[in-house]
Amino acid sequence: MNISSIYGFTLDQLIAWLEERGHKKSRALQVWDWLYRKRVHSFADMNDVKPEVVALLEENFVMETLTEQVKQQSADGTVKFLFKLADGNLIETVLMRHKFGLSVCVTTQVGCNIGCSFCASGLLKKSRDLTSAEIVEQIMKVQFHLDEAGQEERVSHIVVMGIGEPFDNFTNVSNFIRTVKDHKGLAIGPRRITVSTSGLADKIIEFADSDLKVNLAISLHAPNNELRTRIMKINKAIPIERLMEAIDYYLAKSNRKVTLEYILLRDVNDGTEHAQELAELIGARRNGVTVNLIPYNPVDEHGQYQRSRKESILAFYDVMKKQGINCSVRLEHGTDIDAACGQLRSKQIKKDRRIS
Ligand code: SF4
Repeated sequence: MNISSIYGFTLDQLIAWLEERGHKKSRALQVWDWLYRKRVHSFADMNDVKPEVVALLEENFVMETLTEQVKQQSADGTVKFLFKLADGNLIETVLMRHKFGLSVCVTTQVGCNIGCSFCASGLLKKSRDLTSAEIVEQIMKVQFHLDEAGQEERVSHIVVMGIGEPFDNFTNVSNFIRTVKDHKGLAIGPRRITVSTSGLADKIIEFADSDLKVNLAISLHAPNNELRTRIMKINKAIPIERLMEAIDYYLAKSNRKVTLEYILLRDVNDGTEHAQELAELIGARRNGVTVNLIPYNPVDEHGQYQRSRKESILAFYDVMKKQGINCSVRLEHGTDIDAACGQLRSKQIKKDRRIS
């Protein structure tokens, strides 16, 4: 295994790696505690770990590979980070404050190939997957930011909804989840972690069969194939019928609810007739489904889409409720900064191009 960042290990992998080198499991647990509970910034700070173990870690691993380029703070407490990876690529991570706690939205790929027509991230094609270490380190950087503020606040929730299609980077995202869930480390409960996919049906089935047991959200955004293909070209390859089969499999297998994300685009998919069609599509699955309506955040590059009118949002919501479907409207965060996913990154890249 070629791991250069210590955050790339799950606990089981760290135990195995140290055992192969003649060190006991208890040593690995000690290191894990320093990484995720005491949250030191260097191996040398692990001051009750045997010096030879510290030396071994220093020889083989680094702790910090992400450098902070920009940090935007919103009046509502949202903080948006732009990080530079070791290879120079830029990624975004967002910290959001809710009544129920602090959630972090992580990026899983550099760019994205899914190409949703409303998305600023999809404008920049995928150049590579993030390693599990790079995804874990986003959480650690945000936690370090909180630690420095000295309020003893903890990241309590994670949404895997930043740039990239997480199921197109399945192994690394799975290992990331195993690490942040681990109860001896960050101990973020599985019900507080949500993975959002554009609807890769085969991977939804693999996810349902896995040991991960975290929440699943699916970007639906339209109630029929014609409209969904216009908004999300992935629908051509994986039409709604196939997606619904995968959702049914997930519901039966996991015994958990699934969230259907629906971004509201003015006069495109936000009519009451669309709401009615969506209710029919959900049909008998209604007890296993929550619909999350997301008012669109306009981005310069997609002038064809506008934010829905308030009355359209309310009318859509009313149809859902009347049909007995669990539904919520997503509250907005960071509207005074570059709130839409990918906006900060694409702005910075354009700025860098102008400078060079
Ligand atoms: S919405 Fe998500 S899946 Fe779609 S292009 Fe943007 S990052 Fe990719």
